[in-house]
Amino acid sequence: MKFPIKTIRKSAQITAFPKNSLEVSKLVKFSNKYKFHILPIGGETNRVDGTKPQFEKTILIDFKKMNRIEEVDSDNFIITAQSGTLLKTIQKAANNKKLLFPVNIAPSDKCTIGGNISTNVGGLQTLRYGNIEDHINGLEVVLSDGTILNFLNKLKKDNFGPKLWKLFCGSEGVFGIITRASLKLIPKKKYNSTYLIQTNSLNKSIRLLKFLRNKYFDNLTSFEIIFPIPSSYLFNESTHHFNLIIEIQSNIIGNYKKDLKKYFNLNKFKIDKIEHDKSKSWIWSKREELVYNQIKYNFTEKFDISLPIDKWSVFIKKVNTFVKDNKIFTPYFFGHLGDGNLHCNFKVHPNSKKNCAYLSKFIYDLTIQSEGSVAAEHGLGLKKNYLLKKYKPSENYLFIKKLKKHLDPNSRLGKNKLFQA
Ligand SMILES: Cc1cc2nc3c(=O)[nH]c(=O)nc-3n(C[C@H](O)[C@H](O)[C@H](O)COP(=O)(O)OP(=O)(O)OC[C@H]3O[C@@H](n4cnc5c(N)ncnc54)[C@H](O)[C@@H]3O)c2cc1C
Repeated sequence: MKFPIKTIRKSAQITAFPKNSLEVSKLVKFSNKYKFHILPIGGETNRVDGTKPQFEKTILIDFKKMNRIEEVDSDNFIITAQSGTLLKTIQKAANNKKLLFPVNIAPSDKCTIGGNISTNVGGLQTLRYGNIEDHINGLEVVLSDGTILNFLNKLKKDNFGPKLWKLFCGSEGVFGIITRASLKLIPKKKYNSTYLIQTNSLNKSIRLLKFLRNKYFDNLTSFEIIFPIPSSYLFNESTHHFNLIIEIQSNIIGNYKKDLKKYFNLNKFKIDKIEHDKSKSWIWSKREELVYNQIKYNFTEKFDISLPIDKWSVFIKKVNTFVKDNKIFTPYFFGHLGDGNLHCNFKVHPNSKKNCAYLSKFIYDLTIQSEGSVAAEHGLGLKKNYLLKKYKPSENYLFIKKLKKHLDPNSRLGKNKLFQA
């Protein structure tokens, strides 16, 4: 083999570092011939064991060496990059042309664009800009038999056949391997304001979100909420307050400031801090700290769920009753209230770990009853691969299985990932 390869972990597991799509295709053909499983690896920031090898005979395709930005086309607002390019590198390349790639998550200096697309990443600005699927203009993928399909595209309007590349977005590498991407850029807004706001009520927070969304839809980029328990760890104080991080971006300086101040005063929201330079933001650094605190303080039972915005209030009421009746569970909730996705994490009393299944069933059942999604982020990986069968309508589940059988008849690509084979 000519690829840079390295043997790791168990004896028959190999990590390969291809440099281009042709090498990926050759690796796939090699794995078919010698009956290896294939596992694409990005920055390994998913938390669902999506990059955990399960079989002795596995080739891990590590995209570290496919990290090249091929073109930034500022006339067509398209950036084309190999799938191992870091999200941060894409953001910087866009910024250098005074453009914006509007997908952003905390580990942007670790995760890759291939991994982001495979998990259909959202992030801190999903409220305004949507998930990454809304910023893809085309993909190149390698199928399980080694065929390279090129759907890369710079056109804004192209209906010459269905957009088949969409199948590979959010499918965690089980339908094919993403090798290159054409991504959409947009003009950058000139001014940024980030507010840290305190309030004593979830319902008031939801009312504020609705007010801001209706009035400033184009400018409201983030609306994050931190519940009282994580707030108390973050700000080292015993508190019953919710904290909100609200970000507004605009081309006209200050057109919203007076309005906001009036609304906050009238509705008794306390403004704790306002910042205008995102690159040196203390507020956003606190938001990152929140994620690390959940591990530090053992809130490790995680549920990344999303609900329609009007369902959160009743959901939280039911969770509060549940934790009152089951004191072994302590909630640590925070997240992207703006797009309906909260991280509902819990600490479970160490002697009661066996009750995690009981907790999962409660949260997932309640999520489905509330018309929500049990997987808003990270994908399903191996950890949550039982959920599709349990909670999707059976017709949908069978359709995904059939599609998998058609695209990957020998189950070489991520067997048991997403759903159990
Ligand atoms: C601190 C933190 C914050 C996060 N915040 C958010 C957030 O705000 N919003 C959100 O949506 N998500 C968030 N995530 C999760 C996020 O979806 C993933 O971390 C990220 O998108 C995965 O990228 P990666 O390169 O690390 O992929 P990996 O973790 O390496 O892989 C993820 C999956 O994609 C597959 N894969 C990787 N590369 C390819 C490829 N080229 N072709 C096909 N399949 C491939 C892998 O096999 C695996 O199944 C967060 C994660 C962390 C750790």
